[in-house]
Amino acid sequence: MGIDGIILCDCFETDRALAPPFPLVRRGWYFTGAPGFEGQDDVRRDEVLEWERTACEHPYLHLVDNKLRRRELLEAMDDHGGLAAFPAILAALPHGNDGDCLPPEEAARCLAELDRLNDLMAPSTMAAVVDADRGTILFGASEPEMVGFPRRLQPLTHIRIYTDGTIHGLTPEPGTAPTTSWLEPDAVVRVKHMDGTILFESHDFTQERSGDDWTFRDAATGATVRHSSPSRGHGPTTRWRTRHHADCASRPDPSTSPTA
Ligand SMILES: [Zn+2]
Repeated sequence: MGIDGIILCDCFETDRALAPPFPLVRRGWYFTGAPGFEGQDDVRRDEVLEWERTACEHPYLHLVDNKLRRRELLEAMDDHGGLAAFPAILAALPHGNDGDCLPPEEAARCLAELDRLNDLMAPSTMAAVVDADRGTILFGASEPEMVGFPRRLQPLTHIRIYTDGTIHGLTPEPGTAPTTSWLEPDAVVRVKHMDGTILFESHDFTQERSGDDWTFRDAATGATVRHSSPSRGHGPTTRWRTRHHADCASRPDPSTSPTA
């Protein structure tokens, strides 16, 4: 069982349709006998249906006639901000088997919400770290992701690290760098002090060993920061760049996935 979603054309109301076999009025999405012809639409149903099919260039005077896919629509709304974020669509969806008819101004609100939902469902981008020497993507993230852990943490239990860089439950040893480094959705790597202060941000930098720690150096400005760990993926790579790339992983249908 499915639900049809129909947009009516206005050829009947604007006299661009062929004349019906007898006077009809449109009530919602169906035609019925005009005053004086009540009941005729039942008796002469085949004639009415044939007229509807051929009265204008739009079969059955339907501008658009598609399956509504109500359940998928509700799921998509739920996944992208929640049902309450799409009040016009929610109000417009039929709640029973009788169907419902929506005036054009309400349809405009629904279309605006559908556009917004469509934007939210469009392929998103991930921030990616690229090996600057080889141009290969080392890894990507669509949420803030910690890419450099603060080494030499004591104690190692009951420590909580949050995406804003704050570290709770840690008393740093003197001389250590209580920092984390993060790849963030704007494709910038940030080194943050344990109190959340941003110490360094760059999308093109080198990492060099520096005593017990590491120095990150921005390629453009030469700005540096000391961090206790090399960032994830460090190996032969000494220079990182970050950029955005299309997130294929979140698009389950391969036919719609970008290949970038
Ligand atoms: Zn039409």
